[in-house]
Amino acid sequence: MQIHLGLALLLAAGATAAAQAPETDPLQPAADRMLEHIRVLSSDPFEGRKPGSAGEDKSVAYLQGEYSKLGLLPGNPDGSYIQDVPMVGVVSTTQAEFDIPGAAPLTPAWINDYVAVTRREAEEVDVKDSGIVFVGYGVVAPEYGWDDFKGVDVRGKTVVMLINDPPVVDPNDPTKLDDKMFKGKEETYYGRWTYKYEEASAMGAAACLIVHETGPAGYPFAVIAGSWGRENFDLKTTDGNIGRVKVEGWLTLDCAKRLFTAAGYDFDALKASAAKRNFHPVEFKATASFSIMAKVRTIASRNVVARLEGSDPAHKDEYVIYSAHWDHLGKNPLLKGDPIFHGAADNASGTAGILEIARAYTLLPAAERPKRSILFISTTAEEQGLLGARYYALHPLYPLEKTLADINLDGMQHAGPSRDLQVIGFGNTTLEDVATDVLAKEGRVVVPDLDPAKGYFFRNDEFEFAKVGLPAIYTSAGYDIVGKPAGYGKMRRDSYTANDYHKPSDVIKDWWDLRGAALDADTLFQIGLQVAQSETWPQWKPGSEFKARRDAELAGAPH
Ligand SMILES: [Zn+2]
Repeated sequence: MQIHLGLALLLAAGATAAAQAPETDPLQPAADRMLEHIRVLSSDPFEGRKPGSAGEDKSVAYLQGEYSKLGLLPGNPDGSYIQDVPMVGVVSTTQAEFDIPGAAPLTPAWINDYVAVTRREAEEVDVKDSGIVFVGYGVVAPEYGWDDFKGVDVRGKTVVMLINDPPVVDPNDPTKLDDKMFKGKEETYYGRWTYKYEEASAMGAAACLIVHETGPAGYPFAVIAGSWGRENFDLKTTDGNIGRVKVEGWLTLDCAKRLFTAAGYDFDALKASAAKRNFHPVEFKATASFSIMAKVRTIASRNVVARLEGSDPAHKDEYVIYSAHWDHLGKNPLLKGDPIFHGAADNASGTAGILEIARAYTLLPAAERPKRSILFISTTAEEQGLLGARYYALHPLYPLEKTLADINLDGMQHAGPSRDLQVIGFGNTTLEDVATDVLAKEGRVVVPDLDPAKGYFFRNDEFEFAKVGLPAIYTSAGYDIVGKPAGYGKMRRDSYTANDYHKPSDVIKDWWDLRGAALDADTLFQIGLQVAQSETWPQWKPGSEFKARRDAELAGAPH
């Protein structure tokens, strides 16, 4: 692959680069191939690629066909390209009521005021008159000396929590956050909603409601209503998820304020108190009741896995993983206008990216083939909570201690070639040093998350690989676009988040310039190749919450 030389030319041409005729641009053929993949995957017949739908059958068949056309081997040792991912789908019909002595009951309106579902495999879930306790951010973090529960028994109670990390102010400079607490303005796992429900479950609560706020959550309530308001998916478990809190839900900020006011509390005052270490849970003189009727069905979904065999007999049983989710949100016939969530950027584009990277590997001359094997995993049900990636991480087809890294793709650059590339969760692993190296050769630079507060590292498949210790990297489109005015890349990104993210309007746009996607795919190809050839294994950096797990995994294993 010589694409990076093409970019050097582009960069040398400076401001006139964008005017370069596409047919002479070395990035254009790859951009065209990627556009074609995206066109197919985001088309109407694929129905928005929902797991368990006819759209899944088409997506899986397409990927299997493309991987096999490239000459890649079936990735499953059973001789197939398929890893079965057994899941359950649950549609919850929920009624909720808050009772305050001496006042009329509050009955929040489904979707407009709240969503609440059960993740248990049960047809009926009832929570009656459970005491409401406000537990601040719901965080227990010994390494920060932080405990929002302070020993208060919340068993059987309805806990109400705030989203994101506690925003602890720097004692020396009240205008900024304390860098030593919860990584400052970067989001830690303690800020994620998945953590909040896990903690509520561990504490034995009956229900957990998170107060939604657009800024700290990173997306408007409509995004939650859109996904939680429909069928919810989970991995099939042997215990039917009996260990999970019975009711998991969200309140809109308005609804939360009404509840706090009715119970005699000021939301903003309590929220401010929750940002301090000495916060103590507040038990409302109020109760919550939920009645959920759940329709449960089992779904047989699939990861598609392809393999390029390593060229060195001593190393070919060691693996570098590329992952990109093929699924999206399906369709909603109740929507006015286009009912299909096309997911062109999310994640037909990353799916096109992994296919382009796979192609680059197959085109390497025999002498340059990687020593280690490369695994390409097109995961299912990312949109349902990273389920396909979690399933692989929990049921790896090849041992994790023989796996070097995961390189994840989710959403490719569509504003044109950029001089920068974001490494999400910067500071985590030595993979970012490899990225820095590769980009430097291309005349480009790594930049840390340009929007660190949104916790993107925890919102994509790489997180599931990280959780089981595997060094993982996820890069995101840079903002510094060649041949465009400053601010152009950010403007495109912001407009996508505001208008198209998880909406039917996530379709191919006529202004898209996928040369940037082609360039980034080449960079990820080079990164993986370097890892697959290197004497040293990628590692978590000191201070990373994932390091201990990996160290234990590799203890005793030769590498
Ligand atoms: Zn995605």
